[in-house]
Amino acid sequence: MTCGQCGAALSYNELGLNKKFNANAQAPLCACCLAKKLGVTVARLNEKIEEALAAGCKLFVRL
Ligand SMILES: [Zn+2]
Repeated sequence: MTCGQCGAALSYNELGLNKKFNANAQAPLCACCLAKKLGVTVARLNEKIEEALAAGCKLFVRL
């Protein structure tokens, strides 16, 4: 799976971010492009991954 905007290969956690924050998009986006689309920083998305992991969310893995 690659980013619909820049073509970068997507990690498992990036796919999880798309399921959570970009569910109705036609193509999944990498963390960088997704952050731009959502108007947040990549660091903020990483915080969200940490929060989801702490809550036991299976969309993400600890790196
Ligand atoms: Zn991208």
